[in-house]
Amino acid sequence: MLKGVAASPGIAIGKVFLYTKKFAEINTRNIDVSMVEDEIAKFENAIKLTKEQIEKIKEKTEKEFGKDKAEIFEAHLMLANDPELFDAVINMIKNEHITADNAVNQVIEQHASMMESLDDEYLKERAVDLRDVGTRIINNLLGTVNINLSELDDNVIIIAKDLTPSDTATMRKEMVLGFATDVGGRTSHTAIMARSLEIPAVVGTGNVTQSVIGGETAIVDGNEGTVIINPDSTTLKDYEDKLIKYKTKVEKLKKLKDLPAMTIDGKKSLLVANIGIPEDVKGALNNGAEGIGLFRTEFLYMNRNDFPTEEEQFEAYKYVAEKMNGKPVTIRTLDIGGDKKLPYLNMPDEMNPFLGYRAIRLCLDEREMFKTQLRALLRASAYGNILIMYPMISSVVEVRKANAVLNEVKEELDVKGIKYDKDIKVGIMVEIPSAAMTADIIAREVDFFSIGTNDLCQYTLAVDRMNEKIKDYYKPFNPAILRLIKNVIDASHKEGIFTAMCGEMAGDPLAAVILLGLGLDEFSMSSSSIPNIKNIIRNVTYERAKEFASLALTMSTPDEIEIASKKLLNSIIEE
Ligand code: PEP
Ligand code: MG
Repeated sequence: MLKGVAASPGIAIGKVFLYTKKFAEINTRNIDVSMVEDEIAKFENAIKLTKEQIEKIKEKTEKEFGKDKAEIFEAHLMLANDPELFDAVINMIKNEHITADNAVNQVIEQHASMMESLDDEYLKERAVDLRDVGTRIINNLLGTVNINLSELDDNVIIIAKDLTPSDTATMRKEMVLGFATDVGGRTSHTAIMARSLEIPAVVGTGNVTQSVIGGETAIVDGNEGTVIINPDSTTLKDYEDKLIKYKTKVEKLKKLKDLPAMTIDGKKSLLVANIGIPEDVKGALNNGAEGIGLFRTEFLYMNRNDFPTEEEQFEAYKYVAEKMNGKPVTIRTLDIGGDKKLPYLNMPDEMNPFLGYRAIRLCLDEREMFKTQLRALLRASAYGNILIMYPMISSVVEVRKANAVLNEVKEELDVKGIKYDKDIKVGIMVEIPSAAMTADIIAREVDFFSIGTNDLCQYTLAVDRMNEKIKDYYKPFNPAILRLIKNVIDASHKEGIFTAMCGEMAGDPLAAVILLGLGLDEFSMSSSSIPNIKNIIRNVTYERAKEFASLALTMSTPDEIEIASKKLLNSIIEE
């Protein structure tokens, strides 16, 4: 059994298809001067072919997954069109008298290793793309044909070192039962694709490819993050039962799609979705989301070489607002910094980036960038029910400053006669303890709160959310967190505004009853978690939830609260 990251839920049992890429034999011999022009011509041809292939994959992806998922291939096209790389290859062929494939290999490797060596997640991801494009050019130069995932003719579990965007875009999805990869984390490309395709996946196993040769039976448990190769008959039987149970549960929960998230005694909550890219609204609607509670707009700014224009942003926000058809769409203004960097924005190296120049702090400084986003948001608000949310608010002071910029943008739009929702609601993420403590003060000046437990936990408990080593200290059920949540909800209700939660805790089945009992109005989570949470809410009374929340608030340790929650959950939901 191998342990990895549970990247996409579900269980898959099937035959292994080991996807190893054949690496073309690079010709390292020197060439005669008379051959130089020929090699250059071969290279130019290969580039042409490469661009045509990428263009085709891009079109296919756009058709199957939408414009956003196809954007990665726009980036690939840019790399294939990069004059700097082009010239470097040609110069190398000319000056060193080497073959085109050798020159491409060296140039791509130099650039990719340089990008990888930098402490920047964005550039590391770009190195993967660059190698993907480089391999394609070399294969075209040498006529190497790789196993093609578009020709899979049997149901398989794909096991690979990693899957590149070209791999997932071209593969025959209906034949794929699950994925398991050596590398990757929850936000890696493979993981994101697997979730959007609803294929069970485990990534970051370290060495799953070394444990198989292909054809073995494997189990991929995307709920637990485990992969089992050649299971014995008892394990296999166990997982076959688990799979049937899981499928029955998913089918049962699907039936709740159009029913309200209402307790037995009639208290209604709003269950909404967290999304990262506009295309995610499809998954949200399929799972019965009653709105979008968090649109993380930073994804529009990442994986590119320059700021998205006002028009691009306007289109993205408008698309989501229109697709959600009048349902609330809460769009968070840019939350960059911390672990997310933009290569085209000069950001300082910091000792403590999570406590540093991030989110609203940066936006208030980069005024034009902030105004562009606000203008796009306001313009899109004429096409649906958009709410604006500021991240990383530590006190009412930033709310006032951000609102001053918003008002300036509104006035500019008024002068030009451009329409927008004049009553647009503006709220904040409560993810810094100081904001949670002063919720009563801030509540007077905003329309809503949304509790970001991912950051609230790291700041309240002083536990870096990215640090594996101290993950046992990261406890959303710490009594301190529950008290802060209660404080925020109570303060909002006193002012007649609502409180949502969009951190991971909102989708945690063990937290659902407590949060309901504390009076949380809106739960925002990954789309696929919605049916499960709805089922819990529909099987409990508000009275019992309130009692349980009060009881939980008297408990001393996170474990005590968690154990009591498990017990309660088992008593209300039959597995
Ligand atoms: C949070 O902090 O809980 C949150 C939802 O924001 P992010 O995970 O994007 O920081
Ligand atoms: Mg946050």
